[in-house]
Amino acid sequence: MPYSNNNNPTHNYKMNTKILKGFSYELGPIRPPSEGQDRSLLVRATINCPWNRCLFCRTYRNQKFVYRKVEEIKNDIDIAKGLHDALNAASLNIGHNGNVDNETLMALINGNPEIYSEKHVGPIELQSRLQSLLNMANWMASGARTVFLQDANSLIMKTDDLIEILHYLKQEFPTIERITSYARSQTASSKSLADLKKIHEAGLSRLHVGLESGCDEVLKYMKKGVTSDGHIKGGKKIVESGISLSEYVMPGLGGKKLSRSHAIETARVLNEIDPAFIRLRSLIIRNGTDLYDRFEAGEFEPVSEDEAVEEIRLFLENLDCNSYLASDQMSNLLWEIEGQLPGDKKALLKILDKYLDKSEEDRMKFRLDRRMKSYLSVYGGLEEGLARKINNAIESMENRSSDMSSKVEDAISALKKGFV
Ligand code: SF4
Repeated sequence: MPYSNNNNPTHNYKMNTKILKGFSYELGPIRPPSEGQDRSLLVRATINCPWNRCLFCRTYRNQKFVYRKVEEIKNDIDIAKGLHDALNAASLNIGHNGNVDNETLMALINGNPEIYSEKHVGPIELQSRLQSLLNMANWMASGARTVFLQDANSLIMKTDDLIEILHYLKQEFPTIERITSYARSQTASSKSLADLKKIHEAGLSRLHVGLESGCDEVLKYMKKGVTSDGHIKGGKKIVESGISLSEYVMPGLGGKKLSRSHAIETARVLNEIDPAFIRLRSLIIRNGTDLYDRFEAGEFEPVSEDEAVEEIRLFLENLDCNSYLASDQMSNLLWEIEGQLPGDKKALLKILDKYLDKSEEDRMKFRLDRRMKSYLSVYGGLEEGLARKINNAIESMENRSSDMSSKVEDAISALKKGFV
């Protein structure tokens, strides 16, 4: 639900603040695309990443991992419940029958200026109050069905604590149908199968695991903190426990040197695990990561976008499992690589071949167009410097200039810097 400040004074709703435990709950920085802001209630079960060493990652860089107390998490759930009830009451009050829409949201915001205006609240607190309210409003508008437990590896919590949180969530919000979270393979393999089964029975439906690669050399270089055997052990245990498993693969992570073994070994590991989902999220070398420094020093040589497509083709060719393969991340060039394996394998290979069979110039045009669409889908527009680079690239393609390739690559890499 877009938050737009269309002030309608006839639709203000004053909430009973005495029954609320607070106005904002903790929100972590990321969630999987499939748990996007319109779908899942976000509950921050732990803070940051307990590993925090992967070379390509900067999400929690320099942030200390924190276990939250069960009481703190429950308090956040209570706050979320209070906001839920306030939005529901606001909706009934303005005659929207419990449906939460933009008017309901604005009725609550405008009716409570002492809580939601800069005149009464500092800007940081105001922002977190609005973010929590918006998360709750979006969740309710989407049917209040799915919950995502943040941050990077909340499976690391003590089993009993995690189970207590899962029970409490379901008790407070009976509409919940699915609860998911991120986890590391290493953590899953160190939990007993009995514990994972208990967690599943308590309500954890799915785990998203950053497999990234099944190639030991890549895993070691990237300091992933797990071997291919560890991935297999952790992954198989999750599958056996009944928890649905979504494994993330990072095309390009082997660089030019290890591209082939990265593709083949990753397929081998996934064939053993046979997860419900395999999701592609191509490598982006982000400024501020250790990998960026190695790239700048010439130590890591990334694959080109065309080589990444060839790598995905090799990976897919070697996959022999029953997973749903998705390419639902803006870092990927070919979003249409999506289907149920093994049935859709041939059709998916055809999509890859169709791209690879294009002329070099057509591939270039396609890539620029795709990257621009991805960028615009998030930001809605281009800032001046970026627009200039893109215009230069388009002009050079129209004129078939000798520097066309470098101008297109320059524009694409500038666009990719903005990818989330
Ligand atoms: S385990 Fe995940 S969140 Fe933690 S450093 Fe690695 S990629 Fe980042």
